Amino acid sequence: MRTVSILGATGSVGASTLDLIECEPERFRVRALTANCDVAGLAAAAIRTRAELAVVADETCLPALREALRGTDIGATGGPKAVSEAAALGADWTMAAIVGCAGLEPVMAAVAAGGTVVLANKEPLVSAGEVILAAARASGATLLPADSEHNAIFQCFDFQRPDRVRRIVLTASGGPFRTRSLADMARVTPEQAVAHPTWAMGAKISVDSATIMNKGLELIEAARLFPVAPERIEIVVHPQSIVHGMVDYVDGSMLAQLGPSDMRTPIAHCLAWPDRMPTPMEPLDFVKLGRLDFEAPDPVRFPALRLAREALDAGGARPAILNAANEIAVAAFLDRRVQFLEIAAVVADTLERYDPPSPTTLEAVLAVDGEARAIAAALCKDLTA
Ligand code: NDP
Repeated sequence: MRTVSILGATGSVGASTLDLIECEPERFRVRALTANCDVAGLAAAAIRTRAELAVVADETCLPALREALRGTDIGATGGPKAVSEAAALGADWTMAAIVGCAGLEPVMAAVAAGGTVVLANKEPLVSAGEVILAAARASGATLLPADSEHNAIFQCFDFQRPDRVRRIVLTASGGPFRTRSLADMARVTPEQAVAHPTWAMGAKISVDSATIMNKGLELIEAARLFPVAPERIEIVVHPQSIVHGMVDYVDGSMLAQLGPSDMRTPIAHCLAWPDRMPTPMEPLDFVKLGRLDFEAPDPVRFPALRLAREALDAGGARPAILNAANEIAVAAFLDRRVQFLEIAAVVADTLERYDPPSPTTLEAVLAVDGEARAIAAALCKDLTA
């Protein structure tokens, strides 16, 4: 029996992970489940899975959590530090599924504890990739990618012969505005932006998919995870979201991973790895699918991808600034304080205004992240005024 913890258990990835674990209760024992403030969702999941510990990052929610768990022997703690302490408990398998850089310190705590750390939460890897990878080397932790594209590449990549890989290809759905004009995109609402055509996901990543910043973050994530030069990582729009990633070898062979647009497939791969486990998903029906389309991303309507590539090429603090500014701008858009097209503009402006030295420690990354957030927040305020 393996012990598992889920950071961000009440979110979209958290729910998919719980679904798989609850299908095979004899294989998994739950140690810690964490949330921000969804007490009802967290308590229900903790009770169903007989978790040892439930944690809310928002400490003001702790009394309600204690109340919801009264009469059980499930521990309850609260505050950002308590989330990192839960991550440090050292489960055999930890799902990192908090949204944004709020997950950075918990990811670092889980990595320092060793075991297998499964990364859905891509923002920490974008902002602090080298710091996280160095910590994993030091602790011996195994990092597995749950993001569907990276999981696909992980399944197809020949790590024994990386020099035989010509390029890797990440697919992008193109989001809900793939065929919209710039004039239309200027007026879209948060409700339209989160209505993703192929994936059911949390609000932040849904907006990132609509701006295609999500693919920009994934480009940087791929460069951290795989021994491939950035210029050999290609992005292709594939509206059906069936082919998740491809590895092109020097002999002209291309290996692709295909699967349903359902996170339970890559999560199951990480849960069972190096074995396989069954999932409730139907097999793909190619006759029903009929066709698979591919097209180039439009750099004019979706400038976020170019910003991310430039940040990756420049390195240093640039990816952390890109990510922090994007988190602030997306939150402002969801709050109706800025327009959809202003998200990428805020990110570009923040990158323009702030150019600190390369951060090499967790503390330095957090300082860059904090300063970039302050600059982006001021820019959003100016746009609202
Ligand atoms: P959701 O918004 O659905 O869930 C986020 C989770 O994080 C919730 O459990 C939430 O708790 C918790 N949380 C939010 N803020 C904080 C905080 N400040 N401190 C601690 N916990 C917090 O997100 P998703 O599940 O969609 O995405 C999670 C991560 O996985 C993101 O990084 C995303 O990019 C990545 N990802 C998601 C995919 C998907 O299909 N959804 C696919 C690939 C990657 P509460 O419910 O209490 O607010």
